[in-house]
Amino acid sequence: MQPASKSPAIRRLQSMIVGTDVLSSIEQDRCVSCKGPATEFKTELARKEFSQSGLCQTCQDEEFTPSEEEQEFEYEGDEEDDLDDEEDD
Ligand SMILES: [Zn+2]
Repeated sequence: MQPASKSPAIRRLQSMIVGTDVLSSIEQDRCVSCKGPATEFKTELARKEFSQSGLCQTCQDEEFTPSEEEQEFEYEGDEEDDLDDEEDD
């Protein structure tokens, strides 16, 4: 697939993060994450996403749909220092 045009700096950064050459992976229709073939996409959006991130359909699903486990793990955004070390036994 023809990779979406991004600045070389961003591509370098991407490649550093995923530890593989994102551009050539996309060109070879290969997923940067699972290294599997990235040739089938459910939607045109997913196809576009691949041309940018290099993630195949499966990995996109995992990336953008948090598993139940991850949903339970929620950060509480406020910076309240609630440091009560009470131990109720
Ligand atoms: Zn993948």
